[in-house]
Amino acid sequence: MKYERTCIPQEEIDRQLSICHDIFDRITADGRRPLAMVDTYGCQQNEADSEKLRGYLAEMGCGFTGDEYQADIIVVNTCAVREHAEMRVLGNVGALNHTKKARPDQLIAVCGCMVQQEHMAEKIKKSYPIVNLVFGPHELWRFPELLLQVMEKRRRIFATEKNAGVVAEGIPSKRDGSVKAWLSIMYGCNNFCTYCVVPYVRGRERSRLPEDIVREARELVAAGYRDITLLGQNVNSYGKDLDCGVDFADLIRMINEIPGDFLIRFMTSHPKDASEKLFQTMAACEKCAHHIHLPVQAGSNRILRAMNRSYTREKYLEKVAAARKWMPDLVLTTDIIVGFPGETDEEFAETLSLCEEVRFDAMFTFIYSKRVGTPAASMPDPYTRADKQKHFDALTELANRISAEKHAAYIGTRQRVLVDGETGREEYKLSARTNGGRLVHLNGSSDLIGKFIAVDIVSGNTWALYGKVAEQDG
Ligand code: SAH
Ligand code: SF4
Repeated sequence: MKYERTCIPQEEIDRQLSICHDIFDRITADGRRPLAMVDTYGCQQNEADSEKLRGYLAEMGCGFTGDEYQADIIVVNTCAVREHAEMRVLGNVGALNHTKKARPDQLIAVCGCMVQQEHMAEKIKKSYPIVNLVFGPHELWRFPELLLQVMEKRRRIFATEKNAGVVAEGIPSKRDGSVKAWLSIMYGCNNFCTYCVVPYVRGRERSRLPEDIVREARELVAAGYRDITLLGQNVNSYGKDLDCGVDFADLIRMINEIPGDFLIRFMTSHPKDASEKLFQTMAACEKCAHHIHLPVQAGSNRILRAMNRSYTREKYLEKVAAARKWMPDLVLTTDIIVGFPGETDEEFAETLSLCEEVRFDAMFTFIYSKRVGTPAASMPDPYTRADKQKHFDALTELANRISAEKHAAYIGTRQRVLVDGETGREEYKLSARTNGGRLVHLNGSSDLIGKFIAVDIVSGNTWALYGKVAEQDG
């Protein structure tokens, strides 16, 4: 079903920026530069949102710190996908009692997916009085206004109304690093997988206009970024809400045409919408990495149906075969949920056999976590945590073995990698990524950071490859 896209007018964002400048005058009045800390949980979309929060905070004149005792403003950007992430957030927000006691003027904000859930906003209201401001993902664009209200009115503000979501252009981003950049191309999700809270907290699917995305990609390339990851909950359905004749494959082509030496990555792809056109485009666009993160979630058709994933095991395997036909060097990674309500030993064995068949380069595995308000939360779940842990351990063992085998096959090959940072270790000082996104550790001077270089792979384990800089660039 289509809904009206709510685009925040540019004048509104300009108003937020001018509020940033009012806050600047206010908080720098004593001649001191205030410090902010943004603590991020969860997915890359949240990382991208935190870059916008930092963009606004920088406009307010803030410097940044990782030390909560030093911070004048703390923003905790939360995740709701699994209970474990929520527990970590609550523990860490609770620990801010100490910093607030030491500095009663400290402003503490909690935002993001966790607090977009009514029961969690209530919990913060009742049990965490140190928190001054709470706002959901749909209100991020007006963070400056909300913060000013807290400062002026000296009372707690909660902004977490239900909302189908907005598109806001023009919010400044303060990005981490100078080699890799996140670029959101769409927000929200319409898929309603029965275990997942994302559609409830992030709203309906809405795409940014292709021209806005291409402009941002151009700016990133001009600023020296070499690895651009296009972000969305399901990038394959990009453009469906726009009716502008540009789908995700077309968007990749448009970005591929931007001059410069850089890589295009993307995540996440829902298998149901991964098309032959996409694979063909990936193969044809020289800047597009040959990597797909294609979450399968389970290997049993009954479980896939109960998850509302809209594909079968057979369809998934067909997509993998088609993708590999277009890109024989494709790196394929996935997400898997173990212990979905009612998953039997036999059904779990189908997940194992699917993984053996596909041989994923890497697998991100999760034990099912019950999420309030989702259909799966009320499905019968007779299996114990210990049963699920047993399955999880078996899957992890398989995943680690296959990753190690896949990495072993790189030994003796020469790979073109992008050096993206330092490891902080004496040996193997630099970290890099292959075109397919595999992690490579190598020795070399930090001048190589941001460069594409050729590396000879000398060893590998489950988690990484190890290489040495090749004699000549490739
Ligand atoms: N939109 C992305 C996924 C976002 S959540 C996609 O569909 O691929 C990232 C991963 O978290 C999911 O792929 C799933 O494997 C896992 N996940 C989501 N909800 C979960 C839950 N309730 N319990 C355990 N894992 C979950
Ligand atoms: Fe969640 Fe499914 Fe949407 Fe991914 S596609 S965000 S798993 S509902």
